[in-house]
Amino acid sequence: MEEVEFKKLHDPYQQSNMTPSTNTHTPSHFVRVLGPLIVGAGPSGLAAAACLKNQGVPAMILEQANCIASLWQFRTYDRLRLHLPKQFCQLPLMPFPIDFPTYPTKEQFLSYLESYAKNFNLKPVFNATVVSAEFDGRCGLWRVKTKINEYVCKWLIIATGENASEVVPRFEGMSEFNGPIVHTSSYKSGECFEHKSVLVVGCGNSGMEVCLDLCNYNTFPSLVVRDSLHVLPQEMFGISTFGLSMWLLKWFPVRIVDQFLLFVSRIMIGDTGRVGLSRPKLGPLEMKSIYGKTPVLDIGTLAKIRSGDIKVYPKIKKLACNIVEFVDGRMEKFDAIILATGYRSNVPTWLKDKSLFSKKEGLPMKKFLEGWKGEHGLYAVGFTKRGLLGTSIEATKVAEDIAPQWNSNRRVALWIYVNDWIGVYSNLRQKQLLMCARQMDE
Ligand SMILES: Cc1cc2nc3c(=O)[nH]c(=O)nc-3n(C[C@H](O)[C@H](O)[C@H](O)COP(=O)(O)OP(=O)(O)OC[C@H]3O[C@@H](n4cnc5c(N)ncnc54)[C@H](O)[C@@H]3O)c2cc1C
Repeated sequence: MEEVEFKKLHDPYQQSNMTPSTNTHTPSHFVRVLGPLIVGAGPSGLAAAACLKNQGVPAMILEQANCIASLWQFRTYDRLRLHLPKQFCQLPLMPFPIDFPTYPTKEQFLSYLESYAKNFNLKPVFNATVVSAEFDGRCGLWRVKTKINEYVCKWLIIATGENASEVVPRFEGMSEFNGPIVHTSSYKSGECFEHKSVLVVGCGNSGMEVCLDLCNYNTFPSLVVRDSLHVLPQEMFGISTFGLSMWLLKWFPVRIVDQFLLFVSRIMIGDTGRVGLSRPKLGPLEMKSIYGKTPVLDIGTLAKIRSGDIKVYPKIKKLACNIVEFVDGRMEKFDAIILATGYRSNVPTWLKDKSLFSKKEGLPMKKFLEGWKGEHGLYAVGFTKRGLLGTSIEATKVAEDIAPQWNSNRRVALWIYVNDWIGVYSNLRQKQLLMCARQMDE
């Protein structure tokens, strides 16, 4: 690991020009990271580290879980496959194996990520939850804290994802509900809900797929559809709808492509409004680009709604015991509720920054393709609302931006590194290290 670690006691920053931490956690070790520090070892963090490595830049990755891709390992359901074809989900510099199907399974995707990390020799520091990160203007470096260590680095790459924390809505009477209320992040399969009446709240790709899964386990699922939404067939004319849209957008304006998608969808899956899934006024691609709202790609749920295997309800008004009351006045008994209500970024809880991330949503404030770079060496990968395709684009850009800076600083960085291994922690050397660290920023 390209780092210089020494006890806080001997740390020149701590002794000379850094004020005590404002955070309640007091890390016991101080770690000087010579290259970029990446927070998060999901696909985005791994992609950023691989692209940097490819440019000759060593990076350190901090990951709160005890493995890579914790979202995919622990917080996804068993039947999950990539929603988009594999060519749009592969990370930079390493394609999926050719024998993988068009829509790889969760296990296949995870095995690909394991091979990816192995191929680029990426070894994240596990069980390292970042609890605060702040730019220290006095030394011109980022101070990143976990409960155990304080890391100091020149470049900080945020790759903690758009799905870091579950969004759990509050309903009147929620505490009185007699059955389990679980978020999709804890849902594995419909097995434990057999013969039960289950209400799925939220009709994005996850909510729709969970309903379908429940049908396969002899349950009686219902779906809460609060807002209008676009449902499109997963494929059109044997091509993925996503791929076809990307191709059409090269030639036609977004509104024309939207009209085309809606026309073909109408022929293929009929009028979704008739089963309670009314469409928004804006077309699917325009909705995505303006509001970041992803259209649902139907993989069979619509047919189950049509056949009556899945019932559709509007917004929930309140809960009481096992009864759910909806805003249209209907009341129904349910044994369990599954919240497919999405996720949010956790960045505002630990990153102190005004240049890149919004305080409210924890997403970059700049628009797509501009939101990867902030001030003072701060970067973001994986916050584009464009899935793994966005990750690949940003990881490449970030590495291309950092590599020239790293190369111009490399001699000083190596000098610090070599010094640490051969040196004794004398006062003199600590002063030299401090000077070097400052030079790196100039
Ligand atoms: C059910 C589901 C299906 C999806 N299907 C697709 C698909 O088919 N195609 C597609 O392109 N996208 C899909 N996505 C979107 C998905 O978010 C991305 O594919 C991908 O996981 C994003 O990678 P990431 O690394 O940005 O975020 P994540 O995968 O969420 O990884 C972030 C990592 O950061 C870690 N972390 C978080 N906070 C901290 C902290 N404070 N300190 C240290 N570590 C931290 C987390 O533990 C995690 O390992 C899907 C998402 C879900 C939920």
